[in-house]
Amino acid sequence: MNPPRNSTAARDVASVLHPYTELKSHLTKGPVVIARGEGVRVWDDQGKDYIESVAGLWCAALGFSNERLVEAATAQMRRLPFYHAFTAKSYEPLIDLSEMLLERAPPSVDGAPMSKVFFANSGSEANDSAVKMVWYYNNAVGRPRKKKIIARLKGYHGVTVAAASLTGLPNNHRLFDLPIAGVLHTMTPHHYHGAEPGESEEDFATRCAEELEALILREDPETVAAMFAEPIMGAGGVILPPATYFEKIQAVLRKYDVLLVADEVICGFGRTGNYWGSQTYGIQPDILTCAKALSASFLPISAVMVNDRVFQGLAEGSSQVGTFGHGFTYSGHPVSAAVAIETLRIYDEMNLVEHAATVGAHMQAGLRERFAEHPLVGEVRGTGLIAGVELVEDKAARRNFDPARKLGARLMALGEQNGVILRAMPGDSIGFSPPLVITEAEVDEMLDRFGRALDALAVEIR
Ligand code: PLP
Repeated sequence: MNPPRNSTAARDVASVLHPYTELKSHLTKGPVVIARGEGVRVWDDQGKDYIESVAGLWCAALGFSNERLVEAATAQMRRLPFYHAFTAKSYEPLIDLSEMLLERAPPSVDGAPMSKVFFANSGSEANDSAVKMVWYYNNAVGRPRKKKIIARLKGYHGVTVAAASLTGLPNNHRLFDLPIAGVLHTMTPHHYHGAEPGESEEDFATRCAEELEALILREDPETVAAMFAEPIMGAGGVILPPATYFEKIQAVLRKYDVLLVADEVICGFGRTGNYWGSQTYGIQPDILTCAKALSASFLPISAVMVNDRVFQGLAEGSSQVGTFGHGFTYSGHPVSAAVAIETLRIYDEMNLVEHAATVGAHMQAGLRERFAEHPLVGEVRGTGLIAGVELVEDKAARRNFDPARKLGARLMALGEQNGVILRAMPGDSIGFSPPLVITEAEVDEMLDRFGRALDALAVEIR
């Protein structure tokens, strides 16, 4: 059905090129227009309310309203709406936020603290920056061949040219002429699909580490620079690492002097029930990227933290060249930085990490009790306030539905009819990552609405 002429929907169709949307069918289907938000809910322009089960894009950690952040932004706009950090310029919010992140950072390799923070505007830019830093570092320390980057199939690291190359999902490569040369993908550590019958999580993790080592040896360790990994793989389907995975992966990386970049863009700031996903899984990264919840998504900002070994290499390189020739106009934008500072203060004051662990346990139990035995559900997985519910056609064989049937997309549409915005990912997994401020009662309501949508899907496909 075509949206009525001159409606908001028609104007959208006539003017907007939508990210992550099937562009041709959008011309006839049109958008859902979201008009306002409060707490964990948003309202469309017809006044219908939806619980946001993924906090927008895994990001609106404080929900869709917060006066303190409005005030922090307004005050900074009045004081100094823009400045930059090029050519050694600085300003208080930049310094304050860097200190706050370093104080909160997980330990780096061998327990050493993170050393410096670089800012960008998005998770993709943070990861692209991290790739460039790895290359620059290895050139500066005299290892010009050590440049290849390993990521994982189904990993998600963003959409800029290098970040999209790291992303291990077909739709981020198809028709884009990606990945670029020098990016390698190793196996997805998903026990549910990847393990042999009877293989324990620990044995499966050993096999993942062996495959990583074989890849490094095949490529020549002298050419492999870094591995990027999300603590929990988010957009690829909310895939949790099997027990002992990161311990074994890190042993391989250290053996061949390969840097580890933890992509904490989703997992950072409490999502997994600890401040960082790295703490949940014993990861000691050389470099850490974060975004999204850093500012509760009230304004765009992302960060790259580097340990001292990496920083010293970058410093050495910049003295050879004359400058560290990287940075964005809005790297550490003062208004975004002021909002991020206030966000981190609010997280501390609200004990939000603890809240995420407690309410997260309630959400995990609710998802398992209500849906693990549902005829359409193969696996319920997750920890803290992040979870995935995977739809399967054959539970015993763990076989997914034919992608052409678009079960995930149909469930999203039914979710909207039932007042919950859902996120379907490849392999018909539904992601849950609600605002960290969600209460137990709101979790129950979200699961009620999801349950109604899932039952409606079961009827629709019968
Ligand atoms: N890394 C991870 C783990 C993400 O989930 C995302 C976005 O969802 C990104 C990077 C890219 O972030 P952005 O969309 O801000 O570029």
